[in-house]
Formats: sequence, structure tokens, C-alpha cells
Amino acid sequence: VIKDGNEMSKPKLFGMTLTELQQVSEQAGLPKYAAKQIAAWLYRSEAKEIEDMTNISKQARKYLSENFQMGLELPEHVDVSSDGTKKYLFPAENEKFIEAAYIPEPKRKTLCISSQVGCKMGCLFCMTARMGFHGNLDAAAILNQIRSIPESSELTNIVYMGMGEPMDNLEQVLKSLEILTSDWGFQMSPKRITVSTIGILPAMKEFLARSKAQLAVSLHNPFDKERQELMPVQQVYPMKQIMDELRHDRPDKLRKLSFEYILFEGVNDTPRHAKELVRLIHGVKARVNLIHFHPIPGTPLTGSSDENTLKFQRILKEKGVITTIRRSRGEDIQAACGLLSTKELIKKEENSDY
Ligand code: SF4
Repeated sequence: VIKDGNEMSKPKLFGMTLTELQQVSEQAGLPKYAAKQIAAWLYRSEAKEIEDMTNISKQARKYLSENFQMGLELPEHVDVSSDGTKKYLFPAENEKFIEAAYIPEPKRKTLCISSQVGCKMGCLFCMTARMGFHGNLDAAAILNQIRSIPESSELTNIVYMGMGEPMDNLEQVLKSLEILTSDWGFQMSPKRITVSTIGILPAMKEFLARSKAQLAVSLHNPFDKERQELMPVQQVYPMKQIMDELRHDRPDKLRKLSFEYILFEGVNDTPRHAKELVRLIHGVKARVNLIHFHPIPGTPLTGSSDENTLKFQRILKEKGVITTIRRSRGEDIQAACGLLSTKELIKKEENSDY
């Protein structure tokens, strides 16, 4: 659908909470319960336009169409991996892209979504970091990734592990979680949603207090100085403080915690690292996910060998830490954090006159 400038500037219905939709219904002269009907069209149907909301009166639909837009946006590009992983690119402001990766497995269909356009956290191993920061996604743009892919109705799990640091855009991430998990919204269980963080402590505390979704903390190195080299955030919020928080102040015992640990050959994959990792996370009920590194252009980092990965896992397991090795998915389409959108950006820059 080609929208004119006027259409683009109308507020989006998609991404509104029930309270916001109730205000809209009131303005449209609709009864209060109509807000739930509109929410059902937005979050649990395949309706594309306001006109498709057939249980809303014609007159009210006319009012809504004149004053609002549905707010859905289709992906602009998709790459399909030989293993079935699909990488969707959605247009964002200033000719940038955000990406979502659909990962089908026999028992679950996961979508990895972005929360920001680029990222300001500067992790050494991450392609999104190179793109710099270009803005936060609002709840509508976060949820649009889920609603606007062809596999939308098949999704069983959502992970906030695409571009951006979710805790750096906390209010919009929390709003998107409210819409995802509410009865009037997508009706997804918070058990099936995982939000990742590199450990922005104040926002992480807020998240733990206000959401029931699962939390995945990106750890990647148990030694302060070494982690700092990989992840500058360590200087501001050291991992030890994050551990203290997770150890002592976690009222919701039902929430599942995990630590993400990307293994880099010779950098963080030695027995010394494995033993220190066990010490660091002692007393925190969490699993460790060991992740194979997709090499990215221009870094000296490479992924650990299978032998080192298994050795690392063995040490953790011997100490009673539940540890899984994550299979790599979508390597042939570069389905790692930020890779594809940055490539697309580079292509655009190469084609431009500058
Ligand atoms: S790993 Fe995550 S937090 Fe770090 S730069 Fe990349 S997107 Fe940002």
C-alpha cells in the first residue's frame, strides 16, 4: 500500500494498549467494549486495514480511517537459509533497516526481534554496534515484526535478541510485552518470551519488577578486565553487581534466567574461563547457553572449535551448571545480530553518490 504523507502522519492503532483504544473508541462514539473488539482485530487476526474490522459499525470505521492508520508494515526483504531460518528486513527511519529472524525447529517456531535501530552499546563482536545508534523502536514497530511476517500465526516463542539493547528502550519494550501477554492482546504466555540484556542494572531491576517475561543476560566473559574489552558496559555495571541483584533480589522464583555465552577461540573459551564462570554465577539459578560465534568481517575474533566448546561445557556440567550448546542457525544468510541490515546499509551507501 502506498501511503501519502497525510496517511503516514496519522496515529497508529496498532501498538496501542487497551486503555488507549478505549479513548479512541470513545472519540469514535463507540461503546467501551468496542476497544476489545478493535484489539482483537489488531492483535489476533490477519486484518490488514481498518476497513477489515467488520464488527465495527461502518460509520465508526469511517471515523477511524479518517483519523488513524492501522499501522502495519510489511517486511521489505527476506533471505531464506538452507536450514529454514528466515531473515526479514523492515524499513526504519532514515533509510535504515531493522531485522527479525524466524527460526523454525520441530517443536518451536521462534522469532528473534529488534528493539532499536542500531545500538549504542559498542560490543566488540557485534555488527549492530558498527551501525551506531539511530533511534528507539516504539511498541508498534517492535510488535509489527511479529504481526507482519507470513509465519505470524505459527510463532510459539519470541526472543528480544535482535538489534539493540532492550533495557535501553525499556518503556516501549514493556509496553510491547503488555500487549503481547494480555488477554485483550496477543495472549502469549510470558514463559514463551525472553528479553536479553548485556546488564544495564537500573533498567534490568525495573524490568524484573514490572514484567514476567524470561531474562537472558549476555555474559561472554567472567573476568572484569577481559569482559570490559569485549563489552564496554562492564565499566558502568560490572557483572558482579548484576549477579548480586539476580542472587538476592529476585522475588519471582518462577522466572527462568539464562546466561548467554558466545565462545571465541582463545579469548574466553579456556578452562580458566569456565572455572571462573562457575564461581561468578554461583548461587544464581540459571542455565548457561553456549553459543557458537558467527565470524563477522573486520574483527580478529573467531568461533571456538567443537573440541573447546565441549571441553568448556564439560567443566560447567561437572560443577552442576545446566549448560546447553546452541546450534548455529542461518549462517549462510548471516542471521547473527545486525549482520544483514548492516550489509544492506553498506550496499545503499555504496550505491549512493556520497
Ligand atoms: S550485542 Fe547487543 S547490546 Fe551489544 S552492541 Fe550488539 S545489539 Fe548492542
